[in-house]
Amino acid sequence: MTTSTQTTYEPVIGLEVHLQFKTATKIFCGCANVFGSDPNANVCPVCLGLPGSLPVLNEKVLQYAVKVGLALNCQINNFVKFDRKNYFYPDCPKNYQISQFDYPIARNGFINISMEDGQTKKIRIHRAHIEEDAGKLIHDTDGSLVDYNRTGTPLLEIVSEADLRSAQEAYDYLTNLKLVLQYLEVSDCDMEKGSLRCDANVSIRPKGQEKFGTKTELKNMNSFRAVKLGIEYEITRQTQVLESGEKVLQETRLWNEEKGMTVLMRSKEEAHDYRYFPEPDLVPFTIDALYIDEIRKTLPELPEEKFNRLVREYKMSDYDAGVLVQDPQWVMFFEACVKSYGDVKKICNWISGPLLSEINERKISILQLNITPEKLVGLMT
Ligand code: ADP
Ligand code: MG
Ligand code: ZN
Repeated sequence: MTTSTQTTYEPVIGLEVHLQFKTATKIFCGCANVFGSDPNANVCPVCLGLPGSLPVLNEKVLQYAVKVGLALNCQINNFVKFDRKNYFYPDCPKNYQISQFDYPIARNGFINISMEDGQTKKIRIHRAHIEEDAGKLIHDTDGSLVDYNRTGTPLLEIVSEADLRSAQEAYDYLTNLKLVLQYLEVSDCDMEKGSLRCDANVSIRPKGQEKFGTKTELKNMNSFRAVKLGIEYEITRQTQVLESGEKVLQETRLWNEEKGMTVLMRSKEEAHDYRYFPEPDLVPFTIDALYIDEIRKTLPELPEEKFNRLVREYKMSDYDAGVLVQDPQWVMFFEACVKSYGDVKKICNWISGPLLSEINERKISILQLNITPEKLVGLMT
């Protein structure tokens, strides 16, 4: 006879984030890197992959990638090398994507998230690599159309370690990551326009077991909320699979927003073999420590530092500091007020109350509000 004991499962989650850089031009050609143009308006022989065309790296992309790497506490690889990731699909006119395989520009970083008990948890970043985006397929009743405007848009793929243990932790990681990226001003970070995209890798394991369970990869979430819901759904689904005595299968699943569930996209058997090899049209090169240091000097005070400084310097509550760091301009506004007015709490209340509701309602920045720090101080005194 067997005695049944209830197994508790622990979720294990790792996220892959694709970030589109908002450079003026594409990664390997001079085409405009803009969203919303007429289909195929921003294309040339290079990003269309025509025979004989050659890519040239946009230096801004390298600078942005190093900047993000540094802000995420990564080691920067001074050996810059690109590789071809081969696949055949109509959104990819060259039939390969230029990416980085064995020498990602950045490695071994981390992002902190706050836990319920007030502790900080480090979520390690495995790697971040530069690559080009693919085009866009539009499936119409008349057939499928292809728009190559997005082809060759610069991307950074940021891969976390599987350190996340709940959907909430994944949500917090994304929120903190996005804020850092916004501070760096390297991307619009707009999930709706696809300039920030996230795939979630999810598995569960019996609590106490070290070995990871089989993961599924979730795609197609277009908000952080959807990422959270998708992960929660997947944890429940996998738990039910294991409890019914079956095995979780390694597969890619799509989040279906209307149905609120994940559905099978492809199984492991259909997984790609990308046959990576060095990109012969882009010669590897090295960047020196000086180059990296110059970029380090351009880093702004980052959200976490800002938060800690506000709490330390102004004895502000965690709540108020948390609100202000959402936008560095709000912190600047606060600090301009506090120079001539000593009631920190009152300034914070004014900013987080009437000012922010006006800003949000009118979708404007604090600088566009017709109120200066002097005027606000005048109102308060
Ligand atoms: P793949 O080769 O399938 O792309 P990777 O090893 O590159 O897998 O990992 C991709 C992402 O999946 C990373 O964020 C990693 O932390 C995460 N990951 C890997 N294994 C697991 C697992 N068993 N459960 C959850 N996440 C995982
Ligand atoms: Mg992967
Ligand atoms: Zn082009």
